[in-house]
Amino acid sequence: MVQTGCEIGVLRLGHRIFRDKRVTMHAFLVSRAFGATSFIVHGDRDSKLEEKAKRVIKDWGGRISIGYSEDWLKTVEDWRSRGSLIVHLTMYGMPVENVIESIRVTSRLLVIIGGRKVPREAYDVSDYNVAVTNQPHSEIAALAMFLDRFFKGQELYMQHEKARVFVVPSPKGKVICRNLFYKEEKKVGRG
Ligand code: SAM
Repeated sequence: MVQTGCEIGVLRLGHRIFRDKRVTMHAFLVSRAFGATSFIVHGDRDSKLEEKAKRVIKDWGGRISIGYSEDWLKTVEDWRSRGSLIVHLTMYGMPVENVIESIRVTSRLLVIIGGRKVPREAYDVSDYNVAVTNQPHSEIAALAMFLDRFFKGQELYMQHEKARVFVVPSPKGKVICRNLFYKEEKKVGRG
């Protein structure tokens, strides 16, 4: 199982409301599904994105929070002062397979992901600049791979607390269950 008490923050740098809304939302969805406990957006403040993320948490459960950072360096320092290791995902970093064991010793971790050009300081303030292959791809893929390596695949068995809806795995079709314990029901789309 995913270590309970493990605090994993994902800091998304330089969000732009119009260009990045889908990518940032997907980075949030991956963070939640793969075991992160907070998702922090830096860049444009995007109340619609925050609302959408909160709705996902309300329906699908989980203990992840969503926040905003006006000053990402301050956010990094806050996490560091509380004993966090800082990891920056970048194609220029050290291969994940070479450094993940040293990173895995921590139970508090802030993972920085970029978008548009990442400021030089991100490389300097990070304890580890980590590459998921040294090829260019995407922050969503890099984050998913990194979290999976961090948790050694155990996040696949994670139960998301207080879920109102959940999927019953099915070889064909879509089966969704609703937790009747919760009175305020929400309709889940067929997406
Ligand atoms: N030149 C960027 C870099 O440093 O990785 C690629 C920009 S990419 C559009 C946006 C973000 O995806 C990067 O800031 C980084 O967080 C992530 N990313 C892309 N490729 C990666 C890789 N191979 N390993 C780790 N992270 C990667």
